[in-house]
Amino acid sequence: MIVTDETITKTHLYIGGEWVEPSTDRVITPVSPSTEQVLGQVPEAVEKDIDRAVAAARAAFDDPQGWATWDVSRRAEVMERFADELEKRGAEIARLVSSQNGMPISMAQAVEGGFPAIALRYYAGLIREQGIEEQRAGVFGRPTRVRHEPVGVVAAIVPWNFPQALAFVKIAPALAAGCTMVIKPSPETVLDGYAMIEAAHAAGVPAGVLNIVPAGREVGAYLVGHPGVDKVGFTGSTEAGRSIGATCGHLLRPVTLELGGKSAAILLDDADLPSLAAEFVDASLQNNGQTCYVCTRIFAPRFRYSQFLDQITDIVGSLTVGDALDPATQVGPLVSERQRARVESYIERGVAEGGRITTGGKRPAHLDRGFFIEPTVFADVSNDSTIAREEIFGPVLAVIPYDTIDEAIAMANDSDFGLGGSVWGQDTERALDVARRIQTGGVGINFYSHDIGSPFGGVKASGLGREQGPEGLAAYQNLKTIYNAP
Ligand code: NAD
Repeated sequence: MIVTDETITKTHLYIGGEWVEPSTDRVITPVSPSTEQVLGQVPEAVEKDIDRAVAAARAAFDDPQGWATWDVSRRAEVMERFADELEKRGAEIARLVSSQNGMPISMAQAVEGGFPAIALRYYAGLIREQGIEEQRAGVFGRPTRVRHEPVGVVAAIVPWNFPQALAFVKIAPALAAGCTMVIKPSPETVLDGYAMIEAAHAAGVPAGVLNIVPAGREVGAYLVGHPGVDKVGFTGSTEAGRSIGATCGHLLRPVTLELGGKSAAILLDDADLPSLAAEFVDASLQNNGQTCYVCTRIFAPRFRYSQFLDQITDIVGSLTVGDALDPATQVGPLVSERQRARVESYIERGVAEGGRITTGGKRPAHLDRGFFIEPTVFADVSNDSTIAREEIFGPVLAVIPYDTIDEAIAMANDSDFGLGGSVWGQDTERALDVARRIQTGGVGINFYSHDIGSPFGGVKASGLGREQGPEGLAAYQNLKTIYNAP
């Protein structure tokens, strides 16, 4: 590993609106997956720091004149200022994310540098429009008022693959609702959180409303079960989601779980992949395959199988693999050596189970450092094989033949997961019919991505609850009815 002089050192944690000394001298040292250089160091929060952060969030929430009690337009104004401050730092945040997790910089600028401000503005607008109290006539003759009150102190646990975007699908609705938060980033991506919280501070987000505690999974588990927490928002692996869900089930604590996926792309016989190459790559290999909803099982009609396979092989084989910070890079490295070893073991397994590699499968010869793997396409894969069943979280696609559309849909639905999915064809009515029959939280037509205005989430082992859209705001609100209230 290479250490340079250009590392970023942070010595304090942001708790209660202040930069406070951490309880211990433990540190987290993020590493660039492109260069294997140490990028910096930040304090690692421990249980005592979590106690302080939860206490600060609790005090801010319980303050009789505090954030939760503010008029919605006052909260919305702060959120919009926060969006302005994030925009000023957008390029820096994108660079920090890209250098820590290997996301191609062109994507990081839009998603990690740009999306958080969009999310804040969307939810600021929504809370202004919705307000928090509605009046109903009452069926039994007396009027009621239904209040959408903030759920309380939120623990937000975020993964490394989209550290800002996935934080803000929690932060923006939670702030709009009037909640206060403790945010726990993943140890792989801690530096961007500092730029984010500096933006919050500069925007005048009140003390204690946002607290940030970089730490690993044990401390994350402690936060999830903390008595001062009212709601948990989690994005990460299905395995961790099950454990967090079990804790929250025991505590009867509301929880939103955004977990893993193994999404399907169904190619209809009239799909025109060459003209949709950019959309196809985005849907199936986004962020070096380290995206929960990527469509990595590709179902192609048998009578055109070899033609589609050639097209996919050409598209994937021509992608530029390189340093995440190079604007020309389309596929960056995997986040860590461990993650690459995991992906390589799946590639070996795919071959052992009879899959045929048509492109990729190795470490790129032109890169002598960094955790790179070539984007890889497997042909002749059975939907029962390991690489078609388990989430690989890397740039590995499995192309599976089908005979009838019913068979394709049945195979797409034959998965433990149900997060994303896509249908590719020129007859969009026919594609829409197929999309309706796929059992997942979201499906795209000739495209796959989320939209902040509509709900996002999974079924089966892909999660519980929804983020984004008005549904994502409701996830941070408790409903209270006041009866006989004119
Ligand atoms: P991970 O589950 O290992 O970690 C995610 C976060 O949870 C990290 O901050 C980690 O420190 C913390 N954590 C882990 N175990 C915990 C526990 N028991 N209690 C509390 N906190 C815990 O996942 P990862 O490797 O960082 O991310 C990759 C996974 O996330 C993939 O499975 C991917 O599909 C999933 N993901 C899902 C979505 C979605 O929206 N559905 C989005 C992105 C990533």
